[in-house]
Amino acid sequence: MDKIYFDNAATTQIDLKVIEKMQNVMSNNYGNPNSTHSYGRSSRTLIEKARKTIANQFNVLSSEIYFTSCGTESDNMVLISAVRDLNVKTIITSKVEHKAVLNVVKYLKETESIDLKFVNISNEGLVDYNHLEKLLKQCDDKCLVSLMHINNEIGTKLDLNLVGDLCKNYDALFHSDTVQSIGKYNFDLSILNIDFIVGSAHKFHGPKGVGFVYINKQLKLNPLVIGGNQERGMRAGTESVHNICGMEAAFLNSYDNLETNNNHISNLKSLFIKKITKMIPKVKFNGCCDDDLLSSFSILNICLPVPKEKAVLLEFNLDMKGIACSRGSACQSGSNSGSHVLKTILSNEDLEKPSLRFSFSKYNNEQEIDNVVSVLKDFIDSN
Ligand code: PLP
Repeated sequence: MDKIYFDNAATTQIDLKVIEKMQNVMSNNYGNPNSTHSYGRSSRTLIEKARKTIANQFNVLSSEIYFTSCGTESDNMVLISAVRDLNVKTIITSKVEHKAVLNVVKYLKETESIDLKFVNISNEGLVDYNHLEKLLKQCDDKCLVSLMHINNEIGTKLDLNLVGDLCKNYDALFHSDTVQSIGKYNFDLSILNIDFIVGSAHKFHGPKGVGFVYINKQLKLNPLVIGGNQERGMRAGTESVHNICGMEAAFLNSYDNLETNNNHISNLKSLFIKKITKMIPKVKFNGCCDDDLLSSFSILNICLPVPKEKAVLLEFNLDMKGIACSRGSACQSGSNSGSHVLKTILSNEDLEKPSLRFSFSKYNNEQEIDNVVSVLKDFIDSN
């Protein structure tokens, strides 16, 4: 049985080129980048090259990019440090953020007594920009807006230009969780009014355990991880050289082939929508994930017309057939609490029905779409 992997928003298959690069670095560049001898210097050169690659792509300075262990760490770094070091007293965010943001801002409310405000989210999963402006207007102390670019569960897209400009007008800082966007969207951060973005290599065919954060050079933060002077004092701990180089290789691969990959993935998503609408006319698209302009081209979240009693068998059935997709976001698996994103946007009636997230990559093909839609159709038609 050929297995089908449609869970690319959870993590992606690592590129062969990336593995080769990492093996090479692990074999040949084992010097500690902080050592001053030639072994250390050659590792340092690799790390600084990787930093430059990322900085150049986003049109920022290398000194504005810091390496971390993952997207979650990057989000923590921004949010916690902004409150501690930049005098942020109010955070405006939304109820559909990833837990790497939501649980941190809740923690900050409890421990640092920040004022936490949630912007309204429509039934399509979109941020209400008028409400955001209203909240910004009401804010009379230092405010940080934290809103994700691409929602990892329903794929809805934030207008970064608009939110950036609003934040600038009201003198607020702007952090965007761009974990689902890196390697798929390009950003010119010299034009956009964004103070912090974050990335995680395993979401763009790189290794797990490495990420980065961009921090606007005007903002001086203190480290969360204290120790040596690595990452210019912003994050102590010997750098994971092979992971950073693996991330760079995956990053280059993604941006060098951006258009081809994006067109391929986008066509797969359109085909899925077309086929499933034809074969299961009562299917619903959660959020506005069937809208090209308002949602990401790689994430599709559907609500299936399946009664509650039968729904429990759906995931099992897909798994038996070798199909990997997600019920909510992978970071929630193992918890039975259900998706906080779907709870925010769906009616009680639709919450009773099973919803599935399919997320596509350059490694998927049309045949896989046909197979999955047929399996779903057969399941729905079975007694
Ligand atoms: N933010 C978003 C939007 C995500 O989708 C994820 C992972 O699913 C994260 C943050 C956390 O990233 P990491 O797995 O690298 O900690």
